[in-house]
Amino acid sequence: MTDILIIGGGPAGLTAAIYAGRAGKTVTLCEKEGMGGQITHAHLVSNYPGIPEVSGTDLGDRLCAQAMDMGAEVEFTTVTKLTRQEDGTFLAQTEDGTLQARAVIFAGGAKPRTLSLEGEAQLVGNGISYCALCDGAFFSGQDVAVVGGGNSALSDALFLSGLCRTVTLIHRRADFRAEPGLVERAKQTENIRFLTGCTVKTLYGEDHLERLTLENAEGLSCTLEVSGLFVALGRVPDCGLIADFTRLDENGYAMSAEDCGTDTPGLYVAGDCRRKTVRQLTTAVADGTVAATAACGYLG
Ligand code: NAP
Repeated sequence: MTDILIIGGGPAGLTAAIYAGRAGKTVTLCEKEGMGGQITHAHLVSNYPGIPEVSGTDLGDRLCAQAMDMGAEVEFTTVTKLTRQEDGTFLAQTEDGTLQARAVIFAGGAKPRTLSLEGEAQLVGNGISYCALCDGAFFSGQDVAVVGGGNSALSDALFLSGLCRTVTLIHRRADFRAEPGLVERAKQTENIRFLTGCTVKTLYGEDHLERLTLENAEGLSCTLEVSGLFVALGRVPDCGLIADFTRLDENGYAMSAEDCGTDTPGLYVAGDCRRKTVRQLTTAVADGTVAATAACGYLG
């Protein structure tokens, strides 16, 4: 039996482990892929206060080391099922066995929706980015594209227009899901151009993105020479494990209170899997802090 089981080893989960460990609780953290979560895809993090530059993997490693120094047990395993027993404790089924915990912090994150194109995964960090705010500065003065038609894509295009030489916004439809005001601002921005009714078909570049081809509904294609493609197709949270314990919003994000508490006593959510407006490294670590503090208070 552990006091607190943390599911997810991104910045939110690892910060929760640091705080809960420091508060004297026993902590087990389960991570299915690699420590650091999404942040490991950022080849340079330069928006974390007090640390001007750090690689995403380095930051993930440091957070993990700090959590372990605070006593957290780290297990590389997938939690496949979570149940709550009559005495209020939780049972987590993992690939390797069963864990019992008095409280759970779910920090499963959300993944960017990808284009599912050949070569896309290999070019992440080398021209393909899912976070304009994190990576935009690396494309200063260059020609880039943004794909998507929601608020993220339009906000990204506007943000990048201040850094890059040109920004081409590619959207599969003529109508935008984004707020009209954002679309209007982008249309009035000199170095943003719109290519609507097009989808990205092929990515070219060995070590770095060099160009891409687009296709319209009639099957006509064209080539776009860009060194950066910012994919802004929305994110996909994976809250299936906790769906029986708390409400999810229309996009699948977990609803939670100010203290990260859910509809189930003893279950907290932290990081990008939570419904909230800003999903950044700093807000993930803030959630980890809040959730761990609340969970420690719950355990007494
Ligand atoms: P979103 O609103 O779900 O938009 C995703 C966009 O990607 C849509 O335009 C969609 O096209 C397109 N798309 C999805 N799959 C695609 C594919 N396979 N190929 C090509 N295009 C594809 O996602 P979001 O923009 O990330 O926004 C998520 C939430 O955060 C929204 O509630 C949004 O309002 C909020 N948000 C708010 C702000 C703000 O400043 N207020 C900023 C960012 C995000 P279709 O339209 O054709 O489906």
